[in-house]
Amino acid sequence: MSELKQLYQEMILDHNKNPRNFKALDHATHQSEGYNPLCGDHYNLYLNVEDGKIVDVGFEGAGCAISKSSASIMTTCLKGSTVEEADRMFENFHRMLTEETSPDELPGKMCKIAALQGVKSFPTRIKCATLVWHTMKSALEGKEEISTEQ
Ligand code: ZN
Repeated sequence: MSELKQLYQEMILDHNKNPRNFKALDHATHQSEGYNPLCGDHYNLYLNVEDGKIVDVGFEGAGCAISKSSASIMTTCLKGSTVEEADRMFENFHRMLTEETSPDELPGKMCKIAALQGVKSFPTRIKCATLVWHTMKSALEGKEEISTEQ
């Protein structure tokens, strides 16, 4: 295993064990519920948006290590970002897992989402990784729940 791969794996395990921003927000301006029936991943995501900027973010729920670490990493990326940057991160994350694109080639803020690029080798787990990202998108669009099977 390469050093980089090992580092990424440790990051995923760490975020799964100690998820960041793992809480509900009392006064969320946006929230959505995401469900991946294939795996049973189920999360609620809360966002506090002020003047186009995500000032606070939290999530609750349960699921596999991939979905939980993806959610945790995502929240650390979103906090302090603009909604526009969040959109770009969503696009980048999606492209990283579905296209032959290396994270280095993607424009804009990548944050630590490159840690999840290994998921690409496991197509059945891609939905686990992208679930909370879709949940974030639908929260920002004002939808209250999403399922990966819709
Ligand atoms: Zn899963």
